[in-house]
Amino acid sequence: MLPSFAYTRPATLAEAVKALADGKSRAHAGGTDLLGCLRDRVLSTPTVVSLTGLTALRGIETTVDGGLRIGALATVEEVAGHESVRRGYRALAEAAASVASPQLRRQGTLGGNLCQKPRCWYYRGDFHCLRKGGDLCFAVAGDNRYHCLFGGEGCFYVHPSDAAPALAALGATLRIAGPGGTRSVPAEAFCVLPKVDVHRETVLEAGELVTEVLLPPAAPGLRSTYRKVRPRAAWDFALVGVALALRLESAVVREARVVLSGVAAVPWRAKAAEAALDGQRLSAGTIARAAAAAAKGAEPLAANGYKVPLLRGLVEERLQALAAG
Ligand SMILES: Cc1cc2nc3c(=O)[nH]c(=O)nc-3n(C[C@H](O)[C@H](O)[C@H](O)COP(=O)(O)OP(=O)(O)OC[C@H]3O[C@@H](n4cnc5c(N)ncnc54)[C@H](O)[C@@H]3O)c2cc1C
Repeated sequence: MLPSFAYTRPATLAEAVKALADGKSRAHAGGTDLLGCLRDRVLSTPTVVSLTGLTALRGIETTVDGGLRIGALATVEEVAGHESVRRGYRALAEAAASVASPQLRRQGTLGGNLCQKPRCWYYRGDFHCLRKGGDLCFAVAGDNRYHCLFGGEGCFYVHPSDAAPALAALGATLRIAGPGGTRSVPAEAFCVLPKVDVHRETVLEAGELVTEVLLPPAAPGLRSTYRKVRPRAAWDFALVGVALALRLESAVVREARVVLSGVAAVPWRAKAAEAALDGQRLSAGTIARAAAAAAKGAEPLAANGYKVPLLRGLVEERLQALAAG
């Protein structure tokens, strides 16, 4: 059962920011994650602040520089199906299409997808873990088959969003509004590693909201893709995923972004794989070297070592797909 809370539906962004400024009230977009967290007592709040009246946060449109603006309240379904996203930013369209189920994609928003809470079963369960203010990460000695390979210091959850790695690979920027005004944050810097702050998942401060996502104009020669491997064929989070964005000039890679999902608390840039691709043709040898490099630095826990060959194979398979055009 849901606990009691007050409910407010501001009509403007300024009113929403004011309503959230106490740091205890919680934003409600589609509610697909928030309501489950409240019901399961993962979170509590005196006030739920609905964003649904903020029409300025809706829509997807081309910007004057030829890029794309996606309002934070655009649904995941809208993102997946939008012609400009599919044409220019395929990794994002594929990532959005792979989120959850049709019903959840219809209700869930892009902003909510980026700000959703960890899916670690200890965090979501009845465990007073480090992230919830306790002093222990239960995944260390517990069942850690779905936990991280990279950057797990203290806490070992993996960031659940499929859209976040695609946005990081495509060089997107998030616009944020809060009590101190507005600011921009690169998508790849939006999430926070446990060693930086084990009690938060993003750089958002009290009262701050993601208002929109800005994608740069799609560069000539840009090829991108996202794919994840999940425990079931539908309705599930990534065991391992990869977002690739390569800019090719005369078949030579001039810029490479390789961003992994399901393996870290943030969309994880595999910089060694990017270095293995930069300046190279997408030959079988280059692809094999980049796939091997993607796993560099992985530190598996007791039960998630299977993710290492999985991520190598996935990177290899997606690079082959991009090489084929
Ligand atoms: C069964 C199930 C399977 C799922 N599978 C996947 C999956 O495979 N891949 C995947 O990526 N996701 C998956 N999800 C997560 C789903 O995509 C998110 O629940 C959804 O996108 C959240 O959007 P929402 O609008 O409903 O957010 P809400 O539930 O309204 O909010 C989620 C969180 O974000 C905050 N928030 C919302 N909007 C903003 C904003 N604009 N600025 C700041 N904070 C904000 C809220 O306060 C809350 O903490 C799954 C969810 C479920 C329930």
